[in-house]
Amino acid sequence: MNKKSVKDVEVRGKRVFVRCDFNVPMKDGVITSDKRIAGAVPTIEYLLNNGAKVILCSHMGKPHNIFTEGYGLTKKEKKEVEKLPAEEQAAAKAKFLEKAAGDQKKLTLKPVADRLNEYLGGKVTFAADIIGEDAKAKVAALKEGEAVLLENVRFDAREEKNGADFAEALASMADLFVNDAFGTAHRAHASTEGISHYIPAVSGLLIDKEITFMGGALEAPEHPFVAILGGAKVSDKIGVITNLIDKVDTIIIGGAMAYTFVKAQGGEIGSSLCEDDKMDLALDLIAKAKAKGVNFLLPVDNKCGAGFDNDAPSVTCDVDKVPAGYMGLDIGPKTIEIYANAVKDAKTVIWNGPMGVSEFENYAAGTRAVAQAVAESDAISIVGGGDSTAAIEKLGFADKITHISTGGGASLEFLEGKELPGIACLENK
Ligand code: AMP
Repeated sequence: MNKKSVKDVEVRGKRVFVRCDFNVPMKDGVITSDKRIAGAVPTIEYLLNNGAKVILCSHMGKPHNIFTEGYGLTKKEKKEVEKLPAEEQAAAKAKFLEKAAGDQKKLTLKPVADRLNEYLGGKVTFAADIIGEDAKAKVAALKEGEAVLLENVRFDAREEKNGADFAEALASMADLFVNDAFGTAHRAHASTEGISHYIPAVSGLLIDKEITFMGGALEAPEHPFVAILGGAKVSDKIGVITNLIDKVDTIIIGGAMAYTFVKAQGGEIGSSLCEDDKMDLALDLIAKAKAKGVNFLLPVDNKCGAGFDNDAPSVTCDVDKVPAGYMGLDIGPKTIEIYANAVKDAKTVIWNGPMGVSEFENYAAGTRAVAQAVAESDAISIVGGGDSTAAIEKLGFADKITHISTGGGASLEFLEGKELPGIACLENK
């Protein structure tokens, strides 16, 4: 995948529309983690330092489409309202719309503009609309090396519908589109894909990094190539396993999804999570891996709890002999050793998904051990998914990982080998 980045085009004097991912967690109007803002700074700084006039755009949360003319209730709200007696409907509708007005306050990007200014020395102004009078005036007033942040792009319903008129209006403000929002690159929205139909499109530095490392691992990996997949459901990872089976030397399975494989092979899994309707598929994947000479590793032992509870009584036993009434919540010590060994000599490692219920302190050991093994290996290491990334960061290993992917759903789709609309639309080198 050879896509142009901001570094491959002239940006001086140009109005550059940058789609960022400023979908940061907020509590009572205060940003609780500005990781995504900090992550976007290098691309913005590069553009400002190189004389661009920068227009920043992002979504935050799932707001009502407040800027859409005649905006009303969401489908779900409409259904709820219609269930009520006729005389109560008007009041219920008003309540939802009042909440929508509250959304506007809660999901405004104004606090993001303030935080950006702390990083960028006050070079960012904030527009109170997206393609309205305020945005137009502030874009027109931009000087080289200055930026404006537009209001939450999902306040307009046409964003998620990829409305052509909206995409064109966004494009009309700029000369160049830079996509740097990997987290939404798997969605064809107006500000992630539609806009590219009207002006040249390139990647920002964040997306460039995702393409370089994840794309590189999929296209020309150094071997041995080990994929570690964990998490809740096999059904979420089928696409990834199927795509990787052709490329890797070893697949390591952990987390709840392991139990579908174990039960399919005749194991006793007690009350562990299992997708009974995916057992045939699990056997199919094992057979496919065997046919291709891929080392397919399943847990051999596990730590089980007498309930989905950190403090319930626990036992450690073989993975196919989980006692009745117990559920497997983490991989066991023998499995940890086998998995750590499999990672040790790898040259490329991709890891997505926890080995157990890592949010429970008593069942976090497997995920931590894998995090440590990945960090200590000399491999090109790529980590994605919230729980795996959290484990790496909590242990202070982030700087030992080659690339931590910033997109959940997007990185899974990337690993499935799917073409992401927000990347496919960028110009080739
Ligand atoms: P995912 O979103 O697919 O990456 O899955 C992450 C979730 O899987 C986390 O919330 C974990 O608590 C959960 N999980 C991992 N292992 C297990 C397990 N053995 N039993 C139940 N839930 C698990």
